[in-house]
Amino acid sequence: MKYISIKRGISLPLLHEHTKNNKPDAVPDFEFYHIDLKTPIDEALDIQVAEGDVVKEGQLLARGKGKSSAFFAPVSGKVVTINKSLSAHGVGCKTIVIRNDYLHNKQLLENVQKNRGGYIKRMLEAGVVCTEPMMQGALYTQYLQNTIQDFTHGVIINATDTEPFKTNEQACLQYYMEQVVQGSMYLADAANTKSIIFLVNKEQSPLVRDLEKVFASYKNYRCQVYLLPNIYPLYGTYILQCLKKAKVLALHGKYTLQTACDAYAMYRACVENEVDIERIITVESDEDIRWGNYFIKRGTLIQDILDFVKVQNMKAETVVADSIMRGYAQEKLDIGVYQGMRGLFFLHNNILSEKETTCIDCGKCADVCPVRLMPMWLDRYANEKDMSRAKKYGVELCIGCGNCSYICPARRHVTQRIVEFKKGGM
Ligand code: SF4
Ligand code: SF4
Repeated sequence: MKYISIKRGISLPLLHEHTKNNKPDAVPDFEFYHIDLKTPIDEALDIQVAEGDVVKEGQLLARGKGKSSAFFAPVSGKVVTINKSLSAHGVGCKTIVIRNDYLHNKQLLENVQKNRGGYIKRMLEAGVVCTEPMMQGALYTQYLQNTIQDFTHGVIINATDTEPFKTNEQACLQYYMEQVVQGSMYLADAANTKSIIFLVNKEQSPLVRDLEKVFASYKNYRCQVYLLPNIYPLYGTYILQCLKKAKVLALHGKYTLQTACDAYAMYRACVENEVDIERIITVESDEDIRWGNYFIKRGTLIQDILDFVKVQNMKAETVVADSIMRGYAQEKLDIGVYQGMRGLFFLHNNILSEKETTCIDCGKCADVCPVRLMPMWLDRYANEKDMSRAKKYGVELCIGCGNCSYICPARRHVTQRIVEFKKGGM
């Protein structure tokens, strides 16, 4: 185990003491599931079901016509409607609504062929990964950094928890360590490598000894663990650069970077023949709730989750889906959990009503931007819808991390404005 020093980024207060060391529990089944068909590249989809169809749990609903991953039924039941509605990403998109019939007639995949090609095929067909290289800051995790057929140098599993309240990666690694390690090995086999690197935060160091014990039984793989500081954002490209600089990785080597939850989904796909329909999500609030890490199926309505976790007299009226730093605050709660969502934060204070004031040119946003942009300028160009100047100052490099909005004393919605501008204008 070694320690890597990373200097850029900002330290965040640790607000997640509640959910730390909390074993993931399952939320019950609910009546309706809203599966939004949002793909990272908004590509055309082959929708395989129609209104009125009866589907089994795990049945294919839709698949991208290009390289993005598939959508599966989270429960068995009837497709009641296919319409356009708001997604938890804050945008409208096509949504399949399923009414649960509570039959639990799960559809499993055929046994996987235990070879490299078999593992690649399985991860793609189970919807754990897609082969589309992702744009920076995308809100999806199910991708391979380089196309799986290409890379050969190593697999990196990131189990760091660097945002104020999310602990889902830690919970996954802590309670499903054997499965996560095995999942990473199937990925390594698919990638034709024996090198696996696990990343955890310095604060998670008690996990290291347990990891090393598990590694001891898999002598055919070179498994190592590295500690990263608790700094936000630890985004993919940046981690790879730092590891290369520290000579942990070969300078021109190709690597795939996945999360602990992804590795667990790979285990379930390869060993249990299941498609990827549920993930561990941290549920927290500034009120008294039944906080915790929960297994939650894609498409579960956020309102149902709130009803399940809330205690009497709770007043939460806003939800931040995915992350305090870069998630979308919304008042409407009848929206479904999307694939790759990692946290839900219910708020009593309605942060949507916080008023922006004029930029005072303090420069704090530029100090914390991990890709060294001038967020206050990008904010201005986004406001003026001036894409050519925004591009000149690197708007394409913005990863939507939220640092600039978080630090801004004028409470300007810098990140949100830049991200929305990019969506509409690029
Ligand atoms: S401009 Fe803001 S959101 Fe974009 S990378 Fe910089 S700090 Fe993050
Ligand atoms: S942090 Fe806010 S007020 Fe300060 S320069 Fe940036 S946008 Fe302006």
